[in-house]
Amino acid sequence: MNKSKSEALLARRKDAVANGVGVFNTATVQLAKDATIIDVDGNELIDFTGGIGVINAGHCPQPVIDAIIDQAQKYIHTSFNVVTYEPYIALCEKLNSLFPHGGKAKTMLVNTGAEAVENAIKIAKQATGRNAVICYSGAFHGRTLMAMTLTSRTSYGAGCGPFAPEVYRVDYPDFYKNGAGKTQEAFVINELNKLEEYFETHVRHQDVAAIIIELVQGEGGFTVAPKSYIKGLREVCDKYGIVLIFDEVQTGFGRTAAWGASAHFDVQPDISTWAKSMGSGLPIGAVVGKQEIMDSAGAGTIGGTYIGNPLACAASLATIKYMEDINLNDKAKKVGEIVRNRFEILKAKHAAIGEVRGLGAMIAMEFVKNSDPQQPDYDLCNKLIKACAERGLIVIAAGVHKNVLRILVPLVISEELLNKGLDIIAGELEKLSA
Ligand code: PMP
Repeated sequence: MNKSKSEALLARRKDAVANGVGVFNTATVQLAKDATIIDVDGNELIDFTGGIGVINAGHCPQPVIDAIIDQAQKYIHTSFNVVTYEPYIALCEKLNSLFPHGGKAKTMLVNTGAEAVENAIKIAKQATGRNAVICYSGAFHGRTLMAMTLTSRTSYGAGCGPFAPEVYRVDYPDFYKNGAGKTQEAFVINELNKLEEYFETHVRHQDVAAIIIELVQGEGGFTVAPKSYIKGLREVCDKYGIVLIFDEVQTGFGRTAAWGASAHFDVQPDISTWAKSMGSGLPIGAVVGKQEIMDSAGAGTIGGTYIGNPLACAASLATIKYMEDINLNDKAKKVGEIVRNRFEILKAKHAAIGEVRGLGAMIAMEFVKNSDPQQPDYDLCNKLIKACAERGLIVIAAGVHKNVLRILVPLVISEELLNKGLDIIAGELEKLSA
């Protein structure tokens, strides 16, 4: 693969861009369509990351391009805090109808996932008049102060303290890592009992405004919470008047073969947060919630110059319509089945794969040493990702120990290209295991 122009671009990046802006991969881009990226040297790369879960509807869907151009010709920005425009309202109406929250829902639009989380917490605090927030080990909620504090991997916040006060962390219900010797039912009962105990030992339930959870942890490694845990959590929140927040930033918009992961759990949150794939790459996020909770935020306490920018709203409305038109959730189901099946075959062959897991098309495999969930194998995962990159497949890791290979492939990928990418993973893993 000729990479001279890519190397020159990466050298300019190193010279001009702050080092702390991390990069997973040495790939570059001049053009992207569906699940293919053409780099600046003209190499064709397969994209299994979709801009970290943003490109569920594929790179550059034509209806989204058309909607952005059409909107740009009318007006680009007025600020929704100053002048009202229809695309913002139409998008809120659409999200209210897509995402059930028990009764009437209302929405505020923002620019990013982190901003959605920040605002969800601000709203929950005002709705309850309480200060504390409970979050989970392995969680990722963003890089702003509250979102970073809620995030679990300590390296994300290295040198950035002091963190936001009144944030409490409990264990994520990770049956694979922590359920040894128990049935899943007994494990869940124990985790819910631990939460009740936590109210006695760490923070009073009367002081807790919100519990925020990812139904499937994204950056944490695609760990899926047991359904019965989420049902139990709903009951705990109802009992104590705590706002239950589902962070669906990475799980949303088709990734789990549903509009939101909550559809698989038969549980509705009080508030949910969204971003990533809702705009096909334009910065847009949302906080959706029960009307009475959303309306408890005082005037001026939530907002921002760019929230629900007209171009981003137009892109999001066109993305959602396109997802409906092509039945993206069905495509996700098929993609998920293929990936899971191929990964299960690899697991049967390679002892280094501790677990294959996920929901819908949100599938990952975890690498461990000695078949022990407590011994993460970062080196193998890292080598595999680098080897795949050399073969033109862009794929990234997840997990607190970066030992989980996660697939966030655009869901419009052809079966042929999907299998081509999976062949690369299988072939390179075979070589590394030899
Ligand atoms: N929540 C979750 C579950 C996420 O996966 C992410 C991003 N990986 C965020 C919040 C933060 O989103 P953003 O990067 O758009 O701020």
